[in-house]
Amino acid sequence: MGSSSSSHPLVPYGWDADWEAAFTPYAEQGLVPGRVVRVDRGQCDVVTPVGTVRADTEFVVPRDPMKVVCTGDWAAVDPEGGDPRYVRTLLPRRTAFVRSTSSKRSEGQILAANVDHAIVAVSLAVELDLDRVERFLALAWESGAQPVVVLTKADLVPDPSTLAHLVEDVGTTAPGVPVLTVSALLEEGLDVLLALLGSGTSVLLGQSGAGKSTLANALFGQDVMDVRAARDVDGKGRHTTTTRNLLALPGGGVLIDTPGLRGVGLWDAESGVGQVFSEIEELADRCRFQDCAHEAEPGCAVLAAADSGELPLRRLESYRKLKRENQWIVAKTDARLRAELRKDWKKRGAEGRAAMEAKRGRWR
Ligand code: GDP
Ligand code: ZN
Repeated sequence: MGSSSSSHPLVPYGWDADWEAAFTPYAEQGLVPGRVVRVDRGQCDVVTPVGTVRADTEFVVPRDPMKVVCTGDWAAVDPEGGDPRYVRTLLPRRTAFVRSTSSKRSEGQILAANVDHAIVAVSLAVELDLDRVERFLALAWESGAQPVVVLTKADLVPDPSTLAHLVEDVGTTAPGVPVLTVSALLEEGLDVLLALLGSGTSVLLGQSGAGKSTLANALFGQDVMDVRAARDVDGKGRHTTTTRNLLALPGGGVLIDTPGLRGVGLWDAESGVGQVFSEIEELADRCRFQDCAHEAEPGCAVLAAADSGELPLRRLESYRKLKRENQWIVAKTDARLRAELRKDWKKRGAEGRAAMEAKRGRWR
């Protein structure tokens, strides 16, 4: 990181040498960098070195939802612009959480951008639902962020060996994912998590009641969920009356918490599914047919592993369910894919009919 970026007023908001490099051409145009900390009603709040500015969210290609500003975006802002000051462009996103479902609108919707860590909060107060954990992990991988599972309310599992078993169970469900335990109540495990979040931007995912708000408040050491925009970089700032969705953690790192992210189901997470079920995808490489659906095909390595007990049946069921659900969600929103699927169904139907004709032919 260059000396100029280490003293840059946006460092607490995630500004680093790579963003600085990406911003160079805009700096030459006299624009200032800023990070979007909140989006509401077609406008956004952007923290910049000259204070927080309110800007329009739609620009360049207003009809392209992927080009609409979202929380976490880095933008080039025109400080001389009128009121509202305009976002001139967005720096290319490193990662993005995209929701592709909505019954009325078929476009994707960006919920958060430039997230490095996706913290999946899982409550230890209720029985572990590994299917649900897998779902959130798929979401996280799909966004490009690195997932971390945080088992919350660890104070409710006082027996260390029971706790260790739970961590192990989640660990086998989540290959390549760190699994931490925390108790916001006893303030245990927070230091490890804070160290992990100390660089980059994080989001909190997880079911309602998983302990996300309590955890966020514990991480900030105060009730951030209620914190008003009181941290303008210039210290005086124009205070907005609304809450920010992106906050700088006291020891470094940034936390994003948006209502949209909170309500997530499963979005368009096809490649994420593969990463959560990496051992199944590896098995699938050894199936006889490349397009094996692992349902009843001969030479299916996945079914063989399930038969031998090497692959737990619960894993296979969960994988199938997630695949089906995901395909359905994508199909619901993607007209082209829907048409392809329809063609595929027709083709299969035709093949089925042809096979039956052939059989009949044999009988004749
Ligand atoms: P959110 O919906 O994910 O934001 O969950 P909340 O933060 O609102 O927490 C849901 C419930 O879990 C609340 O009643 C909290 O008091 C409780 N809770 C949160 N963290 C802990 C913890 O570390 N230990 C215990 N025992 N309860 C907790
Ligand atoms: Zn197979």
